[in-house]
Amino acid sequence: MTTKIPHVTTTGTDPRIAGARLTIDLDALVANWLLLAEKSKPARAAAVVKADAYGLGIVHVVPVLWNVGCRTFFVALAEEGLRVKAVAPDAQVFVLNGFFAEAFPVYEQSNLIPVLGSLPELARWKELNTGRTEKLPYALHVDTGMNRLGLTVSEAIRFAGESADNGPVLLITHLATADEQSHELNQRQFESFQKLRANFSGIESSIANSPGIFHSLNSGYELSRPGVAMYGGEPLSGVANPMRPVVTSEARIVQIRMGLKGETAGYGATARLDRDTRIAICSIGYADGYLRSASGSGVPLRQTLNNGGCGFIAGKRVPIIGRVTMDLTSFDISDLEEGEVKPGDYIELFGRNISLDDAARAAGTIGYELLTSLGNRYHRRYLYSGNEI
Ligand SMILES: *Cc1c(COP(=O)(O)O)cnc(C)c1O
Repeated sequence: MTTKIPHVTTTGTDPRIAGARLTIDLDALVANWLLLAEKSKPARAAAVVKADAYGLGIVHVVPVLWNVGCRTFFVALAEEGLRVKAVAPDAQVFVLNGFFAEAFPVYEQSNLIPVLGSLPELARWKELNTGRTEKLPYALHVDTGMNRLGLTVSEAIRFAGESADNGPVLLITHLATADEQSHELNQRQFESFQKLRANFSGIESSIANSPGIFHSLNSGYELSRPGVAMYGGEPLSGVANPMRPVVTSEARIVQIRMGLKGETAGYGATARLDRDTRIAICSIGYADGYLRSASGSGVPLRQTLNNGGCGFIAGKRVPIIGRVTMDLTSFDISDLEEGEVKPGDYIELFGRNISLDDAARAAGTIGYELLTSLGNRYHRRYLYSGNEI
């Protein structure tokens, strides 16, 4: 069963009064997932839709993925899992952040599958399942080098021996350094996971996130877990991004003004104008997840990158002047022809012309953080042509 999805869906703030807009290309998202599914073969691809599908909206992302055959989803929290179930009731949904005993009734009612990652958690799960004729399914997280969630490898091997009658439905581990192809930890994690899998015969396993899928060691599992690459983020650092951009973020110019040579601009007076400067003041700021650390100057926490971010308008990149503020950011548009842009026009912050990852790097962060920080002041347009697939 596929769901009929509109070609254009708009949400968020009325575009007439919004300061900024997001355009989300669901065809690109689908194409990205299909590429990831192809690269994952012979394994199947799931989709990671935690943090409301990396800020893009579970309610928009899950149905288009379901329509092209994605059947398994990973979320961080059970609450997110319920939102997946609301739009894809037959989906298999794994909850990565584990569970507390008080959440058990939710799991009983919803068919969400918790990923259990410590011996106490497993003991609680077993205890809560006693007396049930049909035990609820769970997945097992094993830590092979991340030191975050999961049983140690030796705990997991011992557990495998003891849990024959009620084993996990899926075995997972998470890679710590997959985006750095040559990091030696990758090999160790892939190898420990293979040893571990041998102890859980007949149980499916999952290791690769987006970068893992592109890693040369990528193999030896049944289910992949791509997240960021599906949303257009680069899977590997320092390698050309094979994914299509999914999100375009644009802000409106509120005002254009001249700052004179020798003056300063913005909080802290950190931008010194070394020429007469035409400044576009735009309706975007850190309250919209346009991070203050992308400021053109005056941000001590970003000491290694001096230049800050830029926007794209009228075919040119234009640098941020001074500090990004809560609701406004200024760009130097002196290099544009006078009158080429005007108040009300949109400036691209990231999307087709400035990649998500370049925008993130300019703020000293990663694409994941830009997406999940977007906030709720935008007008959002979701574009989709793919019903006929
Ligand atoms: C977030 C997450 C993923 C997805 O990672 P990406 O790098 O976004 O592809 C996969 N597995 C686990 C356990 C995660 O927490």
